Amino acid sequence: MPSGVQAEIKTYQMFIDGEWVRSKTNKTFPVYDPSTEEVIAQVPDANAEDVNRAVAAARAAFDEGPWGTSTAQERGRVLFRLAEKVRQNVALLAELECRNTGKPIVEAEFDINDVATCFEYYGGLATKVVGYVNPVPDNAMSLSLKEPVGVAGQIIPWNYPLLMGAWKLAPALAAGCTCVLKPAEQTPLTALEMAKWFDEVGLPKGVVNVITGFGESCGSPLVKHPDVDKIAFTGSAAVGKIIVKEAADTVKRVTLELGGKSPNIFFADADFEAAIDGALFGVFINQGEVCSAGSRILVQNSIYKKFVEAMTEKAKKIKLGPPLDRETKMGALVSKEQYERVLGYLDIGKKEAKVASGGGRAEKFAKGYYVQPTIFYDVDNSARIAREEIFGPVAAVIPFDDEKDALKIANDSPYGLAAAVWTRDIFKAMRTVKSLRAGIVWVNHMQPTYVEAPWGGYKQSGFGRELGPWGIEEYLETKQVYINLNEAPIGWY
Ligand code: ADP
Ligand code: MG
Repeated sequence: MPSGVQAEIKTYQMFIDGEWVRSKTNKTFPVYDPSTEEVIAQVPDANAEDVNRAVAAARAAFDEGPWGTSTAQERGRVLFRLAEKVRQNVALLAELECRNTGKPIVEAEFDINDVATCFEYYGGLATKVVGYVNPVPDNAMSLSLKEPVGVAGQIIPWNYPLLMGAWKLAPALAAGCTCVLKPAEQTPLTALEMAKWFDEVGLPKGVVNVITGFGESCGSPLVKHPDVDKIAFTGSAAVGKIIVKEAADTVKRVTLELGGKSPNIFFADADFEAAIDGALFGVFINQGEVCSAGSRILVQNSIYKKFVEAMTEKAKKIKLGPPLDRETKMGALVSKEQYERVLGYLDIGKKEAKVASGGGRAEKFAKGYYVQPTIFYDVDNSARIAREEIFGPVAAVIPFDDEKDALKIANDSPYGLAAAVWTRDIFKAMRTVKSLRAGIVWVNHMQPTYVEAPWGGYKQSGFGRELGPWGIEEYLETKQVYINLNEAPIGWY
């Protein structure tokens, strides 16, 4: 689009009980393209009343609708059809995701393909949920049955909008739950686009509701709602703590995937070129807006100086550009708020450590929330930039002496989502893997994520696991059934 030409501003409705509706108040809020700072859409500003409507629809669909009595085969087929729709529309969804998040188009295409893969995986898994016969020592049969947990409230972040939606919806639907999905206020558009296909792929009305709104006015009423059985949340640690408290009154099942400050550990014997590449990829992919970002880069002293120099040289060449440009390797940050937050941390970092590269806005762009890939070095692990999640393209490089020292620094964090270790020594690698307190550990890589493998954190990075069979388990209850095989009375009294 030529510059200066305003794109058409689309007004969306949200999807409740199989219908497109406005918010009860009729209010909307703007959605932006963070690379141009322009409004690209208006979406309904849902509040507690709209949440009630969505929850009532999900409740009825679970308790009375056909979904509650559907077979696993039927649910699997619905998920396969939805996956197929997404695959046919990768270009459309990726472009929308790219414009709304500021992430490079090539990355957005990966994300949308992963969305389809996630629906396919759980489409297959729907028919593999099995119970047990428990070997009780009596003339009885004891069974454990798996049943859907009920209505799931799903609150997701803005960094991988539709993918986070798929991680939540796919296992829930496979399990037989009904859903109220609340995308992040910054990035609701792809979920709304996908909802257009729900009816066509065979999701009965009320099974998936997509509501758009802010955290306090829309997310919080969903968390507190007595008819919601489970909350699945991905987002900041601060909000995760609020959610646990607010869910307590109704004793909801809660799963949380919160932030991280993940260590990426480089021993001196690592393949040097691969290490430099892995250090940059680990922290700068998706503009660093990744919960598992390798934002603490721990480097062994004997290669430290050379490592920082090589990283810096390569970081300076990372191609920042318009998100829709296929050559772009780093786009804009998602929002003004996030951009200001990251700039705030850059100021803090300059007082706490030395700057090797970056350190501010990327000034070659007249508009947009572009931040230079920034490397701080000689960072002390007690510094704020080493302890707090920044969620932006900011690396904190920390030197260490030996294996023991590396592990001490790596585990000295309130978080424990992910970690990576780079070495050619299998013994060292395995000792490190064993000692790291993190839910995901990569060896000689950082970030690969598969729907087949579990995802989630230790410590304040949350609890519960997504993806794989672990992901569906979080949407299932276990019912114990006892069947007496003795026809005689109990004979106690
Ligand atoms: P960030 O601060 O990076 O935007 P958040 O954790 O605030 O990350 O947001 C993640 C998701 O949580 C979003 O969908 C947001 O609307 C929602 N959210 C924010 N605050 C609350 C809250 N108090 N209760 C429920 N959901 C919330
Ligand atoms: Mg917030």
